[in-house]
Amino acid sequence: MKKTLIAFAAATLAAGAFAAYPEKPVTIVVPFAAGGPTDKVARDLAEVLRKGLNNQTVIIENVGGAGGTLGAAKVAKASPDGYTLLLHHIGMATSPALYRNLPYKTLDDFEYLGMVNEVPMTLIGKPGLPANNFAELKTWLNANKGKINLANAGLGAASHLCGLLFQQSMGIDMTTVPYKGTAPAMTDLLGGQVDIMCDQTTNTTGQIESGKVKAYAVTTMKPLTSPALAKLPTLDSQGLKGFNVSIWHGLYAPKGTPKAVVDQVNTALRAALKDPEFIKRQEALGAVVVTDGRLAGAEHKKFVEAEINKWGPAIKAAGQYAD
Ligand code: ASP
Repeated sequence: MKKTLIAFAAATLAAGAFAAYPEKPVTIVVPFAAGGPTDKVARDLAEVLRKGLNNQTVIIENVGGAGGTLGAAKVAKASPDGYTLLLHHIGMATSPALYRNLPYKTLDDFEYLGMVNEVPMTLIGKPGLPANNFAELKTWLNANKGKINLANAGLGAASHLCGLLFQQSMGIDMTTVPYKGTAPAMTDLLGGQVDIMCDQTTNTTGQIESGKVKAYAVTTMKPLTSPALAKLPTLDSQGLKGFNVSIWHGLYAPKGTPKAVVDQVNTALRAALKDPEFIKRQEALGAVVVTDGRLAGAEHKKFVEAEINKWGPAIKAAGQYAD
């Protein structure tokens, strides 16, 4: 009886310790520069996620560099108390094959809180590029071999992966120029310092809509439906058969975060992804909010594991590594 009482008191204390979570602002680390596509998703999400987090402020901290691995490493090592979370994309699954000394274990060092969205990509060019459609771009690329600059957000970033597949499909090697995110890469593309880039629609839709960049194609098998992107052909229909890159975002916490906190953030995330305003904003940028089983932590983890197994061999075959 005494033992039962003690156990009950301990369980109550443990639950009580996090009953008020969160009692101060929660930080979401975005492993890319401010103003880019991952950052935009995080900022939109933060506004709705907070409703399920006692209305606490959700702060976005940008920790860009090394294809998102610096930010992910920071969260893997953060205190597992629910006050430091990570929003990361497909880089979570591509980095293990790319980095010889990845400073964290993707499947062991995080709590998986649920998937957020899926985002297609687009192939865009600098404003002054003398190619106005994909056929003209092909001609220009073939005529400028050895001089083409392709921007990306570092090894393992979505832009790297998409650019790598594009180079392989075209059979043309390009000089890759890495940035801390595709927000600064977009600035340089607009300024004409780099020639082309593959980037998420969440970053390119506005620039395409206003005609500030040249838009050549979407990277999905099916054309997109959002008004700004519906006219763009798929790379598959332009001769790059089977070209299909669509990326995803998920939410993570450091391993060891108490289950009560993990459950609370998961509940907040599920509610956020049903928010009509959030859904509308994501759709306008070509992104699709996740509504399926991958909202459960275990399913999210299974999905990332499958993505690691899917991309790993292709990346290794391309022989790209970083320390
Ligand atoms: N779009 C970037 C990428 O290439 C990441 C970012 O800046 O959000 O993965």
